[in-house]
Amino acid sequence: MRVIVVGAGVVGTLHAWHAVERGHEVVQIEREAEARGASLRNFGQIWVSGRAGGEELETALRARELWEEIGARVPAVGFRANGSLTPVRGALELAVTEAALARPDAAARGYKLLTADEARAVNPALRGAFDAALYCERDAAVEPRTAQLALRAELLKSPNYTFLPGREVRDVVGEGAVRDDHGDVHTGDVVVLCTGAWLGGLVRELAGPELPVRRVRLQMMQTDPLGEPLTTSVADADSFRYYPAYRSPALDALDAHQPQSATAAAHRMQLLMVQRADGGLTIGDTHEYEHPFAFDTLEDPYDHLTEVVESFLGRPLPKIRRRWAGVYAQCVDPSRVVHRQRVRDGVWLVTGPGGRGMTCSPAIAETTADELGW
Ligand SMILES: Cc1cc2nc3c(=O)[nH]c(=O)nc-3n(C[C@H](O)[C@H](O)[C@H](O)COP(=O)(O)OP(=O)(O)OC[C@H]3O[C@@H](n4cnc5c(N)ncnc54)[C@H](O)[C@@H]3O)c2cc1C
Repeated sequence: MRVIVVGAGVVGTLHAWHAVERGHEVVQIEREAEARGASLRNFGQIWVSGRAGGEELETALRARELWEEIGARVPAVGFRANGSLTPVRGALELAVTEAALARPDAAARGYKLLTADEARAVNPALRGAFDAALYCERDAAVEPRTAQLALRAELLKSPNYTFLPGREVRDVVGEGAVRDDHGDVHTGDVVVLCTGAWLGGLVRELAGPELPVRRVRLQMMQTDPLGEPLTTSVADADSFRYYPAYRSPALDALDAHQPQSATAAAHRMQLLMVQRADGGLTIGDTHEYEHPFAFDTLEDPYDHLTEVVESFLGRPLPKIRRRWAGVYAQCVDPSRVVHRQRVRDGVWLVTGPGGRGMTCSPAIAETTADELGW
């Protein structure tokens, strides 16, 4: 079988990966010299902790298993089973963690409630004041800025794989056939469009204006090396308000009696933080849904994140070295893991994994491969 994959972000690259693994010939086409979208701009969190129970959690757990296998084969992906800690303060935040621990799938996520001292034994960099912490043993991380390159280098070892950068696919010209902006036609048994958050142009023509996917913009930053290990990823209790796993009467009480700070509420913020291989900290995030998106980054959210992180670390943050924004595509119905649609004979669109695309891509691509009988 010959598979044409359009887009070299994590979704496209993992589709190429599964197709090559199954012995097929793969041509992957990317309009940039290398992908530059959400797949490089993210935290690299392989995030199991907050997933909705059922299909979403199962997808994340399967994907984590696949990332671990891929990481063992391609060490430059940077897979590490670092787990996460969410420090909490006060009875209302603690009650949300207790409700999470009572979930029937708590053990599958590796949830544990730790005292502050136990949390510091796991992650000694957390020298700030907090009462307890929710530990999620199944959370993991990869290095998003280098993972795509590392996966590509591994794919290029296969004689069945061809990467065509610097070509934008403009047209579907027949069953399983697309034309790029060089005028070349690429024909396969199947074409998979993994075009990320580019929902206009070709995608709009093929899928129509009612595509049930929207765009979300996030602000991020990265510091100089911390100078010590941050052994787990870290989230704050605001993350409880965004992830479906934490929905409970205890969360309703938290929302009712302890609202987010004005800045966090205005920018729909939570703290997520992970240490990079170079020791720096990737810190975010905000969520912007209304168009047109800002073309610049705002300082207030960064000030808020700095304050929250310093309160957990009990020390000043190293210098902020980089600030950036990224956009992902998310299914309008957030309970859907991904939008997979046949848009023409032999042509499929796979988009909309939202803020879990880095986590779930290996399993999303595996499901595509299974459903299309690769
Ligand atoms: C700031 C931020 C933080 C995030 N953090 C996390 C996280 O920690 N964990 C997690 O699980 N998820 C996270 N996500 C979500 C995750 O990054 C995305 O869901 C995922 O990267 C989407 O991958 P993709 O391949 O669909 O899109 P992209 O990475 O955008 O790739 C699509 C590619 O298709 C190419 N393309 C588009 N149209 C064409 C065309 N016509 N012809 C040729 N090429 C084309 C583009 O150039 C692009 O390279 C985050 C997202 C952001 C923005």
